Amino acid sequence: MSEFAFELELCAHLEQRADGIVARQLGGSVADPGGRILDVVRVEPGPEFDDRIELTGETIPDAAIESAVGTGRARYWKAAFDCHPERARSATERALEIGFFERDREASAASNREYVRQVARYPDWYDRIVGIENKPDLGRPGDLEAQLRTDVGLALVDEAILATESYVTRAHLHRLPDAVGVWRVHRDEAAAGDGLEIEVIREPAPLAPDEPGIEPLTSHAGRTEIEVVSPDAKARARRRLAERAYGKGWRTYQFPDCEACRPDGASGATVPYCEWKDRVVDANSECGPDCPGHEPGSAAEMAVDLEAERDRRTAWEADPDGKRRRQAGLDRFG
Ligand code: SF4
Repeated sequence: MSEFAFELELCAHLEQRADGIVARQLGGSVADPGGRILDVVRVEPGPEFDDRIELTGETIPDAAIESAVGTGRARYWKAAFDCHPERARSATERALEIGFFERDREASAASNREYVRQVARYPDWYDRIVGIENKPDLGRPGDLEAQLRTDVGLALVDEAILATESYVTRAHLHRLPDAVGVWRVHRDEAAAGDGLEIEVIREPAPLAPDEPGIEPLTSHAGRTEIEVVSPDAKARARRRLAERAYGKGWRTYQFPDCEACRPDGASGATVPYCEWKDRVVDANSECGPDCPGHEPGSAAEMAVDLEAERDRRTAWEADPDGKRRRQAGLDRFG
């Protein structure tokens, strides 16, 4: 099975069984730019998860959350940021667009400058974050060990897990850091609906996100440069990770422009199933006129609204009431 199909099935399975947010392919580094991409991220809900749902269905820009724009008195946007003005401007615009900031029209008109405030306090909405590395075939491990060593050393997430379809031997376990949990995923293709079962081969040990972490940076012949990452920097990176997971989710794939593909909802989520290859395909990397099975068609005709599906099947809301109310209010006075 391809890593892509494995990943989508696992995400669909996790989404059905746990509260919170499931997302895929998110940056798991603190360094910027960082090289680590986490295959699957599960964000467990914190005490104010419902308040986050009410705010907006989008990712809130980190600079906007960090800024001194508060919920009380409106502030001149430029004076509220401690970062490059271009970053501040784009964060302000995006925060206004998604309804995290609102304009104070009176204060703006009186001063001829744009005054903004937050529509609500940023909520304490996420709790533990779990990173899952997918490697369906342990016979082709690639950089698996180094990736998991990075996750454990940095400890940006609370738990690191390897998910595989392979039989896991003692030798495999020895090669992985002790803290990494191991899941063996069994798939029953004949089963209706979600025919996936997770066998826990080894429980993950809790990592320590609130302690300093070690992040590998560039590698040269025979040595790797590392950096010690402070708990504060990790806390900010965790918030960015949680926010990206919230806005993005895991249904970020495309459907190909090909008649051989049909939407398949058997796993509990609609995925692109290719009749010619007889499996789920990644339209971005596998499909196109060069594929011998390609029959020109229109992806749009499949009309799969993955955002609506996410809205229907999870606690996440694409267009929460709070945001709609605010926008109606703005229209009235605009
Ligand atoms: S382009 Fe090829 S792999 Fe993609 S859906 Fe069509 S036949 Fe399948």
